[in-house]
Amino acid sequence: MSVPFHGPSDLHLHSDRSDGTEPPAGVMASVHRAGLRTVALTDHDTTSGWAEAADAAVSLGMTFLPGMELSARHEWRSVHVLGYLFDPDDEAVRAVTDRIRSSRLTRAREMADRIGRDFDLSWDDVQAQTAVGATVGRPHLADALVAIGVVRDRGEAFAGILHPRSDYYVALYAPDPVTAVAAITDAGGVAIIAHPAGRAGLLPKRIVDGMLDAGLAGFELGHRENVEPALGELRRLVAERDLIVTGSSDYHGLGKPNQPGEHTTSDEMVARIIAAGTGSAPVHP
Ligand code: AMP
Ligand code: FE
Ligand code: FE
Ligand code: ZN
Repeated sequence: MSVPFHGPSDLHLHSDRSDGTEPPAGVMASVHRAGLRTVALTDHDTTSGWAEAADAAVSLGMTFLPGMELSARHEWRSVHVLGYLFDPDDEAVRAVTDRIRSSRLTRAREMADRIGRDFDLSWDDVQAQTAVGATVGRPHLADALVAIGVVRDRGEAFAGILHPRSDYYVALYAPDPVTAVAAITDAGGVAIIAHPAGRAGLLPKRIVDGMLDAGLAGFELGHRENVEPALGELRRLVAERDLIVTGSSDYHGLGKPNQPGEHTTSDEMVARIIAAGTGSAPVHP
């Protein structure tokens, strides 16, 4: 019954439908060149790149998993929930992603206004860095600041002007992590917490338990931002509960140093994701 696929697999990639720098087909060409053979497109809060990416992936002989990185928030910290194989037309998923994207737009304009009081930055400059219909975010503000010569790269912008503690920062609307997991899971998808062991440390146990109760399937343990000792704690939780573990690059084209395939997901884990996802189907060559 199962259709054959094989790795190397990288299940966390961004195109210019969010904050990557290449169109979906360009991302597929880049990651194929890097040797990957099973991939997912996971733009922030949008599924608009799926069709283009699937066509490109399949024509290159790769297996494609539809995905998304859904923005969530617990108190002050942002939580990214990767969703795979969910139904993109599900009402709750559409409602929450529409609301996030609309809040992102208002928020980016407000940040551009605030920055514009001190630097020669206009909303036009930001739009010039944002593909039509893309999920806008701080990376596009960063690219605009690079274009007008205020900073050298995205990293410098994030360390200063765009930092959450900067006076220019504005928060965006994002659902709580349990709601985010429930939206993906109820739409037939597989929910995995992206880069769960970053510098901010682990989410409180109560929140992780709530996410597991809502159907959370696993953790992206292979990611350059994860650090010990949080990583070790999650390894223990995963073993105890037999959860899914992924490893991925979080490739953003030229927007981040992350290189395709720098972390990968095992064939066994990809098979578990494919077996669990019922809201949409993988696309095979
Ligand atoms: P936002 O969701 O609009 O607040 O922006 C967060 C996004 O910015 C994340 O998706 C990251 O991919 C990206 N990001 C965060 N820090 C950096 C950095 N230092 N360099 C490049 N991109 C970053
Ligand atoms: Fe991003
Ligand atoms: Fe993320
Ligand atoms: Zn990401």
